[in-house]
Amino acid sequence: MKMLENRIAAEGRVLGTDILKVDAFLNHQIDPVLMQAIGKEIARLFDHDRIDKIVTVETSGIAPAVFAAAELGVPLVFAKKKAAITMTDENYMADVYSFTKKETNHIIIDKKFLSAGERILLVDDFLANGQAMNGLLAIMDAAQASVVGAAIVIEKAFQPGHEILDERGIRLESLAKIADFKDGKVIFA
Ligand code: 5GP
Repeated sequence: MKMLENRIAAEGRVLGTDILKVDAFLNHQIDPVLMQAIGKEIARLFDHDRIDKIVTVETSGIAPAVFAAAELGVPLVFAKKKAAITMTDENYMADVYSFTKKETNHIIIDKKFLSAGERILLVDDFLANGQAMNGLLAIMDAAQASVVGAAIVIEKAFQPGHEILDERGIRLESLAKIADFKDGKVIFA
């Protein structure tokens, strides 16, 4: 998606070897015009897939996911992050290790918001090592929901996250795909 790539090139900052900071439009300040265009693009890509519901993880997945959900006319559920909770009968829970924050969080979704057989589109801001997707997939499995695909705003293709989806044969659509970072610059795939 050219509009997104342009914004990443103009406003993204590469930190160290593998982190991209995009807090000017996605991770801190949010550009609603760009988010709306992202939502429309996700909806276009999955328009014929009879999506029942979008699922993401708080916090940064919510902005793109809500615009995509509005375009597709479906509800959005976001998994909540909790440092430590006790599993209850009302919740699905999975562990997610964050390489950026070097900590394990639990993500939880209330059972009443997922039903067996529902056709789910997963949405997130970044795909890196795939831990967030892995956690969401574990919850979808527990709920016996059917994952139709994953829509990612920014995929860092040099990290292994896509393999988790490939192995399960889940369709992955990344709106911006980064092949590498070179001398502090983003190289798109
Ligand atoms: P994964 O679970 O695929 O390793 O990483 C996914 C999550 O980590 C994303 O939801 C995002 O919040 C965060 N993340 C991973 N890589 C980056 C990055 O380069 N920049 C930012 N801003 N967040 C990232």
